[in-house]
Amino acid sequence: MKRVELLAPAGDLDRLKLALIYGADAVYIGGKEMSLRSHASNFTLEDIDEAVKFAHNLNKKVYVTCNMIMHNEDKKQALEYLRALKKCQVDGIITSSLDLINLNNKFVGNEMHISTQLSTLNEEAIKYYQQFKITRVVLGRECSIKEIKEITAHTPVEIEVFIHGGMCSSYSGKCMLSNVMTLRDANRGGCAHSCRWKYFLYNDQRKINKKNEYFAMSSKDLCAIRYIPALIKAGVASLKIEGRMKSYNYLASIISAYRKCIDDYYAKKKLNFKYYYELMSYGENRLTGHGFLNGEVTPNEQLFVLNDEFKNAGDFIGIVRGYDDKNGLADIEIKNKIVQGEEYLKISPGQKPKKFKLLALYFEKKAVGSYTIAKNIVQIKTHERFKPYDIIHARKLKIN
Ligand code: SF4
Repeated sequence: MKRVELLAPAGDLDRLKLALIYGADAVYIGGKEMSLRSHASNFTLEDIDEAVKFAHNLNKKVYVTCNMIMHNEDKKQALEYLRALKKCQVDGIITSSLDLINLNNKFVGNEMHISTQLSTLNEEAIKYYQQFKITRVVLGRECSIKEIKEITAHTPVEIEVFIHGGMCSSYSGKCMLSNVMTLRDANRGGCAHSCRWKYFLYNDQRKINKKNEYFAMSSKDLCAIRYIPALIKAGVASLKIEGRMKSYNYLASIISAYRKCIDDYYAKKKLNFKYYYELMSYGENRLTGHGFLNGEVTPNEQLFVLNDEFKNAGDFIGIVRGYDDKNGLADIEIKNKIVQGEEYLKISPGQKPKKFKLLALYFEKKAVGSYTIAKNIVQIKTHERFKPYDIIHARKLKIN
């Protein structure tokens, strides 16, 4: 039986490499042309070429999202772009445009996937899409596992489902809140997350927010780690993490947790959810729920009250960019304040997080007591060895 694919997002080439190194089997990205995430740092064709070579070298895959809505005048550019992607040997194109699929099928021949933007929730819709020779459908996040199982049983097409990340209060992308309130178009990747803003709630002109509590119309993020065995048994082909704008720290933590859970499942090991949650906690900064997966969506899945939603700010200290084995010095790209003498955690692909003490800290070859300026590179000396893309974290180790 084919193993399920762990699919991660990447906003740029560097994060794509990190996602694959931390255990994603495939990565989805947006090109500079025709991508939905207009604010994500999207990939040029040169980047896509390099990304595909990097991924294929590791026997992994790259899918490109093309979710823009085409006007007549976009047709020529779309065709050129599809041809360029074919030349880069991308493994699939994710789109909600049936016209783009037609264009591709007539003239180019890339593998095409139906995007979650089409909110596919039933097998009839998939049967309809099959005439377009699509090879995969990304289901809407609003399907339960029972429904997913029924769908996979009745279709030869691969099914991809979301397992982690942001949920829409509306069916994905079918919401005008952001457009109306900020002129930022959710259907073109510009969503300002207006549903997550802090609101006062009135009933008959009487304010009913409790003191120091704000109302939101938002959902909690999805976390499906407990449902991984059920989703694999349901015949899902690909498990997708949401968020092409997410940080290195988030990607490293969330991918590590799901990678370990999936590998433990196939190795028939006892699943250690406490450990998986701990791994995720280094990167997750929103409250999570099970979304629609067990069919019952309760107020518990919503985020009606916004107070202490965000955690972890300042915990992501830096990312390792190089290691000098001879002198035992690691180059760290700084994200938050680092202090000599403090204890930190090293998060490494496929390893248990490990604590270490920062023995010495250098900026431009001079010893310093602390350093704060983000994106600059410092050197650290510790008893640990490091590899590029290891993450330095400020949280205390809870795992035994
Ligand atoms: S504002 Fe909220 S509900 Fe609307 S598209 Fe954005 S995330 Fe979805």
